[in-house]
Amino acid sequence: MCYPMVGRPKKEYPPLFEPLCINFEDGREEILEIILVLCPECRSAVVGVYGTHKRKGRRVQYYQCKNPACLFNKTHNTARQFALTTSGGVREVLDGMLGKMTKEIMKGKISQSAIAEKYGVSDTLICYLRSKIEKTISNLQGLKNLVVELTNDTAVAEDEPFIRINSVPFYIIMSTGYTSHKILGIKVSKTRNEKDIREVFEEANRNTKLPINVVTADAWGATQTMSKNLMRKITLVIHKHKKPYDKAGIWHIDYEKTKRIITKIGLKTNFFKKRGKREYFYLVNEDNLSLPVPKKRGRPKGVKNGQRKQRKNLKPKMKRGRKGLFTVFDRGKRGYAKIDPSRKTLILAKNVLPAVAAAFRETQDLYWHKSISDNLAENINSVIESRVHLTGPKTAEGLEQRLRAFIIAKNNPEILEIAFVSHKFSPKILFNEWNNSGIKRLFQLNENWGKKNQTEVSVN
Ligand SMILES: [Zn+2]
Repeated sequence: MCYPMVGRPKKEYPPLFEPLCINFEDGREEILEIILVLCPECRSAVVGVYGTHKRKGRRVQYYQCKNPACLFNKTHNTARQFALTTSGGVREVLDGMLGKMTKEIMKGKISQSAIAEKYGVSDTLICYLRSKIEKTISNLQGLKNLVVELTNDTAVAEDEPFIRINSVPFYIIMSTGYTSHKILGIKVSKTRNEKDIREVFEEANRNTKLPINVVTADAWGATQTMSKNLMRKITLVIHKHKKPYDKAGIWHIDYEKTKRIITKIGLKTNFFKKRGKREYFYLVNEDNLSLPVPKKRGRPKGVKNGQRKQRKNLKPKMKRGRKGLFTVFDRGKRGYAKIDPSRKTLILAKNVLPAVAAAFRETQDLYWHKSISDNLAENINSVIESRVHLTGPKTAEGLEQRLRAFIIAKNNPEILEIAFVSHKFSPKILFNEWNNSGIKRLFQLNENWGKKNQTEVSVN
C-alpha cells in the first residue's frame, strides 16, 4: 500500500480477540468465550487498546473506538472508550436478554422466582428490572391512563379480590371490559364501600368510547348501592360468590320522572348455557326519589330506655344472604324464554315487560354457552395475585402504582417495547451476575451469541 508523502502513515487496527471471563466470588476465573472486540456505539471492529483501569482489585483492559466515522465523535471530543464487558457484541446480547426478561416479568405468565430460575439470574436482578420498567412506564405516560385508546366496551365485570401483604389486608377493586378484556379501572383500598366502587366504575367509564351500561358483579351490597346511586339507566348482573352458585339476578335500573324503577329478574346461572326453554322470575320495585323518607325523631312511642334491644330479639330470624337479593324467586312473577346459544337467540313472550326484554337484550351476549357465575375478572385476579410481586410496597398507594404499571403494560404491549428501548439499562447492574454463573447462562440462552461472533469475525 502506498501512503501520501505528507502526514503520518495511517495506523492499521487489526481485529482484536479477547477472552471474556467470569470472575467468581471465590477468585476463580473462567473463560466464557473468545470474542471480537466491537465499539458499543458503531459496532466497528476498528478498535485499539487504551490502557487499564483498576476495578474491584483487578486490572481491566480498556479499548477505544478508532473508526473515524463513529457517530460518537460527532458529539464528543474523544472517541468512545469501553471495557470488554461493555463492548458492542456483549452489550447487544445482554440488552437482548434484559429485554426478554423484562417482557416476561410484565407478562406475568410465570412467577418472578420462576423467571430468575429460568434465566439463572438472581431475584435481585429481576426485582431491579421490574422496578426500573415500572418507573419507565410511569415516566413515559404516567400511571393515570390504563389504556392508550378508548375501548369499545359497554359492559364491565366488577370485582374486589382481597389480598394480604405482610398480614395487612387490602382490596383490589377492578373493572374489566367484556369486549376488550382489558382492566379499565382499578383502586387498591382498605375498604370496598360504595365510594371506592364508584371511583373504579367512573375510571372505567372514562376509558370507553360509549357509556358503560352493564355491570356484572358478585353479591357485594356496595356495588348494588353504587349502581342505584348512579342516577342513570344501568343493568346490573349479580352472581353469588359463595355456594350455592345456581342463582343469579339481573337488575334493570331505569328512571321515569321522579321515580327509580328497578326491574329484578331472578334466573338460574345455567340460563344461557344450552338450547331450551328456561324459566325466570321478575318483579318491579319503584322508589320515589322526590320525597326522601323522613326518619322518625326521638324514641318511638311506648318504648322506654332499654326496651329496644328486647324488641329486636322478638323479630323472626333473618334468612341467610342479603335481604331482598333473591326474594324475586319467591315473590316474583314467572316468565319463560327460549334460548339457543348457538344461534344467539333469546325469544320472550309477546306481552313481556319492556324492561325485562331490555335487561335480557343488554346482557345475553355476555353469556352464550356460559354460566352467569363465570367471572371474567377471576382469571386476571389470579394473575395479579400470584404474578405481580406485591411484597415490596406496604401502602395502598404503593400497591396501586405497581398494579397500574403492570396493567398498562398488559393492556398496551407496545408500551413495553417503547419503555425498554427508551431506558438504556446500565451494564453495571449485571456486575453482580458476573460474579456467579448467571452471566454464563444469559449468554448460553442467547442462541445467536456464538454464531454472531463467528460471522462478524469472517466479515472483518
Ligand atoms: Zn465507534
